[in-house]
Amino acid sequence: MALELRKLSKNLTIFTDSRKYFSPRQRLVISAAGIKINAEKVHEVKKDDAEILHLSSGANSISDLDVLFVNNGNTVNRELLLQLNCKCALVGGAITNKKQQTNVCGLYVAGDSSLDMQFVVVAAAEGAKAGVAIHNDLLEVDNAI
Ligand SMILES: Cc1cc2nc3c(=O)[nH]c(=O)nc-3n(C[C@H](O)[C@H](O)[C@H](O)COP(=O)(O)OP(=O)(O)OC[C@H]3O[C@@H](n4cnc5c(N)ncnc54)[C@H](O)[C@@H]3O)c2cc1C
Repeated sequence: MALELRKLSKNLTIFTDSRKYFSPRQRLVISAAGIKINAEKVHEVKKDDAEILHLSSGANSISDLDVLFVNNGNTVNRELLLQLNCKCALVGGAITNKKQQTNVCGLYVAGDSSLDMQFVVVAAAEGAKAGVAIHNDLLEVDNAI
């Protein structure tokens, strides 16, 4: 994300909240791109009248931040899927075929709980695909009777 943000600003700092999750290789890439890493825990953010952010981390006060992007991580809500023995990626959502069918008969998954990009438009498209597949499957069941 920081590498992408260089298109908006040349002056970037990553605050890692005291965690050390960059590998040595990632650190090299980040510093080669001119991005600073601040591993101190951030304990205060203030905005002044001019909308400038002032951030305190450790003993330092860092000022003149125009924008602060926050990344709180992301966990897939898949508890119900696991209860149904639905096959999921190691830490991700349901594994489906192109019609959003899972390994569990009659279970279709669309949106963030499936294993694709997490965008509204993707969720809607997957919902539409699942709807058509469910409709066709029900027709097959009806026709079999
Ligand atoms: C901060 C943030 C910014 C984002 N920005 C964008 C963006 O700019 N553009 C974009 O396209 N996408 C964006 N997304 C992603 C987008 O919001 C999701 O991809 C989309 O909402 C997925 O739709 P969904 O229906 O799968 O899940 P959701 O919209 O999360 O809907 C799931 C619903 O199920 C309910 N639910 C969950 N568990 C249960 C349960 N056990 N019982 C009953 N109800 C339950 C939830 O309360 C929720 O209402 C963003 C997401 C976040 C978090």
